[in-house]
Amino acid sequence: MMYTKEEMRELVTLLNEAARAYYELDAPIMQDSEYDALYGRLCLMEEELRERLDDSPTRRIGGRPLASFPPHKHAYKLWSMDKCQNAGELRAWLTRIEKLLGRTPSFFVEHKLDGLTINLTYHDGRLIQAATRGDGETGEGVLPQTMTIGSVPLTIPYRGFIEVQGECFMKLSILRRYNESAAEPLKNARNAAAGALRNLDAAVTASRRLSAFFYHVGTPVAPPLMRRDQMNAFLISNGFPVCPFLKEADAANPEESILRIVDTIESDRSSLDYLIDGAVISVGEAEARETLGYTDKFPRWSIAYKFKAEEAITTLKAVTWEVGRTGKLTPLAHLHETDFTGVTVRHATLNNFQDITRKQLNIGCMVRLRRANDVIPEIIGRTDETQPGEIPIDKPMGCPACGTPISERGANLYCDNKLACKPQAVMRLTHYASRDAMDIDNLSEKTCSQLFDALGVRDPSGLYTLTMESLTALEGFGEKRAGNLLAAIKRTRNIALDAFLFALGIPLVGRKTARDLAGYFVTLEAVINAREENLLALEEVGPVMAACITAYFADDCNRILIRKLLECGVQPQARVHSGNGMPLTGKTVVITGTLPHYKRSDMAALIIGLGGSVSETVGKKTDYVVAGENAGSKLTKAHTLRIPVFSEEAFLEKMKYQSNSESL
Ligand SMILES: [Zn+2]
Repeated sequence: MMYTKEEMRELVTLLNEAARAYYELDAPIMQDSEYDALYGRLCLMEEELRERLDDSPTRRIGGRPLASFPPHKHAYKLWSMDKCQNAGELRAWLTRIEKLLGRTPSFFVEHKLDGLTINLTYHDGRLIQAATRGDGETGEGVLPQTMTIGSVPLTIPYRGFIEVQGECFMKLSILRRYNESAAEPLKNARNAAAGALRNLDAAVTASRRLSAFFYHVGTPVAPPLMRRDQMNAFLISNGFPVCPFLKEADAANPEESILRIVDTIESDRSSLDYLIDGAVISVGEAEARETLGYTDKFPRWSIAYKFKAEEAITTLKAVTWEVGRTGKLTPLAHLHETDFTGVTVRHATLNNFQDITRKQLNIGCMVRLRRANDVIPEIIGRTDETQPGEIPIDKPMGCPACGTPISERGANLYCDNKLACKPQAVMRLTHYASRDAMDIDNLSEKTCSQLFDALGVRDPSGLYTLTMESLTALEGFGEKRAGNLLAAIKRTRNIALDAFLFALGIPLVGRKTARDLAGYFVTLEAVINAREENLLALEEVGPVMAACITAYFADDCNRILIRKLLECGVQPQARVHSGNGMPLTGKTVVITGTLPHYKRSDMAALIIGLGGSVSETVGKKTDYVVAGENAGSKLTKAHTLRIPVFSEEAFLEKMKYQSNSESL
């Protein structure tokens, strides 16, 4: 069949509208099957026409998982926000504003979303980068992940260089639906969103169906500064989803009006489909914002009014002990069923046995619960009055799974039966196989439990002794399934070092620390032999974690496991990093003279935003020079060194050309 470009344009527009209706408005305009069929047709069209439009939905998913997140320097700093928690503190802030301005400005109140901040960079109408906030100056580039968010526009009508900030989150309804069928339910919408956006595999991000609201244009020069409500209008006209709640305070009595709006938000909080943890109050007019400026940490023109955590009271019915991967016993509180912020609550978390004694909890006592936006709330304490028939909670003497006598270390209780305690072994195997670790498909907790029971697999090295014969003898294993599992296990022999370190399940060592360790020490040998003082050289490793890591590798049991894995042919390798494909990645640019349209600082921000760096001096390492009027010795030197020199116009043209021709 022959398709035309017009048909492709129409189909892309239709699919984008459908995605927006589905993800953002939650009002689907077509069946999933119809969407899939049209999406398939678009793939055919793109193949046939050998072209893919900038806003094609086929750009959203795909590509392989990244090895690491490329750092991204924000063109403009992402500030954190000053906080207040009561009317008095709010009044003090309002008074300060009026004093600094010498008048009363307009104020806007909006939801303070409890998600993850993202900063999107657009150039020439195309999304070219998305980054987490990081430390405010440098974040992590999460472009492929962000592109899976259905409501984030890939192209916008506005053509200039622009940074747009917003909050990425998981809707509570989506979280509930996800948890209904998930192997590992997510505890908390905020962590679910953060974990999804900061997942190296964009396919995982896509599966969480994240949403985002945008609220700030970070580039203050172009488009020109706007009032808060006009900024929203600008965002909407460029296709960005914005939070539906934005209210201007009554100018006649702003303090009273703001407090009333904040109250309304707090009482409506539990009916929202997304998490908020307060309200944001900000000065409306751009000029006033500019006059007020910033402290070294915060903008003076906005403040977050934080809500108190929500509490409820119910009866503690029982406490059971769950054995974790490290053998640690964690108490789980069983509660008299209660409705708490719209969710039925049956369980709550407690930290350890000391936590139970310190809070003087008994079976049958009334406990106070707090939800800090978690699905499982926390017990913060008990009520003062004693209930009839309260029974003390016993410290378990033996492991609830295997009966081994408990050992006590610090505040925690442990079962030290590492090899034969089933829940420990099964969870270690499951962790070893998980996606961020060795990534062995189809090795679920259930299968691990089957391998433990029927084939005596006690630790990960046991996986490498599995055969077609032993597997097909198991219930539910045909030749195909067994073959797939064996192939997946075989593939782990060439594993990245960071994934291997994570797979070992060293206490406290998460995905990021494993990556840092692999990046710093390069070989497994070096990590194993690292001393505490070497480990402390890593930014995120403190004394406790360093001690944990050295203790892990000093343990004979763990050394034997690692030796066995190496003997099974597992060869952890350091990863090779590749650039992140921004138009100016790795390039150094010098700006000299007066540019016709851009201020020097804004041109510098543009260059940084496109992945490059800006230098003051022309030298051998300079890649390009952008020269304006009255460019002096730097221009002469550039000519001498034969460094390409561009006018402002030519440079912008070049960037545009590059960003258009850049492939996926
Ligand atoms: Zn045990």
